Amino acid sequence: MNEVLLLPRWIVPVRPHGVTLTDHALAVRDGEIVALLPKAEALREYSLWPSIDLPDHVLIPGLINLHTHSAMSLMRGLADDQPLMKWLSEHIWPAESVHVSPEFVRDGAQLACADMLKSGTTCFNDMYFFPEATAEAALSMRMRACIAMMAIEFPSAYAKSADEYLEKGLATRDSLRHEPLLNFTFGPHAPYTISDRTFERIARLSADLDVPVHIHIHETAGEVADGVKAHGRRPLARLNDLGLVNSRLISVHSVHFSATEIELMARQGAHVAHCPASNLKLASGIAPISELSRAAVNVGIGTDGAASNNRLDMLAEMRLAALLAKGASGDASAVPAADALAMATINAATALGLSDRIGSIEPGKRADLAALDFSRAETAPCFDVISHLVYAAASENVSHVWVDGELLLADRVLTRVSEQALIAKAQEWKARIQP
Ligand SMILES: [Zn+2]
Repeated sequence: MNEVLLLPRWIVPVRPHGVTLTDHALAVRDGEIVALLPKAEALREYSLWPSIDLPDHVLIPGLINLHTHSAMSLMRGLADDQPLMKWLSEHIWPAESVHVSPEFVRDGAQLACADMLKSGTTCFNDMYFFPEATAEAALSMRMRACIAMMAIEFPSAYAKSADEYLEKGLATRDSLRHEPLLNFTFGPHAPYTISDRTFERIARLSADLDVPVHIHIHETAGEVADGVKAHGRRPLARLNDLGLVNSRLISVHSVHFSATEIELMARQGAHVAHCPASNLKLASGIAPISELSRAAVNVGIGTDGAASNNRLDMLAEMRLAALLAKGASGDASAVPAADALAMATINAATALGLSDRIGSIEPGKRADLAALDFSRAETAPCFDVISHLVYAAASENVSHVWVDGELLLADRVLTRVSEQALIAKAQEWKARIQP
């Protein structure tokens, strides 16, 4: 029996929305939240349990990164200041064609896990080659992950055809489905790299297996124009004709959506993974998040890969999402702090079909949690805890992180892995990529 009582100064459970609890405690047994109750009551009821005092801390649900390519952390800063297609075709794809291997993916994903844990993230939704190596990295770090069975219509070291990508992905899912920390999605790369036939196959598999589909959509204006030229309609309309726009769709980026496309997404109950830093860095544009939210489209937040961000820091991403929505809409009340926090937690869990297990602090859910220390100068004074989480806190405030009840970051030190060893491996890869 693994029991612990957490005694933070504040708890922001995310459900109910916008609430901050003081003088409350959280009881966790075998990785499950068993009670959220007033501190005095908890100290009586659980008096024999070991406890952790967090006197200046706020406890939140672990952040959920709704879109990343974790292995690309080994390409952090490799090719900056380039537009998407030039960045992909002249830098990223050539480097990947030479270096991507199971070892590259495992080492890169472990480095990414360290970046994410240290900034309060407990679950990430990943899309990359050799997904079994990403799964292995997540399990070795004890992080929760959603692993894409990816597909793309060009050969790589991983697979030769879209069918082979899918076969290999399905085999990985079959062999790892029993792992409680792992979940799976389909990850067709984008409309411009996937044929109708492959999309039809993925639509059938997604419906049969009830598995989400995670795909880059309408990232740039050029992609939309090229799609119209090649297929006679905009990519989202094509995906809708192929049966993919539904409540299992996670549309990544969604920068260039028209009013009718926003309406379609809302009507079909599809989800958006908003990646504001990546969209700005590659000059793709600004996603219409206020409009999507107004239409009641479920929006989560992702960092994208470290090659286009260049961090996997969900606190920074949440802040940027809240600020950008205001600047883009001319409305300072757009994406208020509590909404940004929901996007980085419960909304992402909903998009992944995991809202019954993670995304908020509620009895019965898994104990995926982050504690932020607000005793530091940069977070003093504190008038409003949720405001601080979004507009003032940064990764240096994240002191403790638990996944499934296991303490993975204690006083900012990773407990399962040597950070120095991860850094040394990253340096080795740098020497191989750019000798
Ligand atoms: Zn991406």
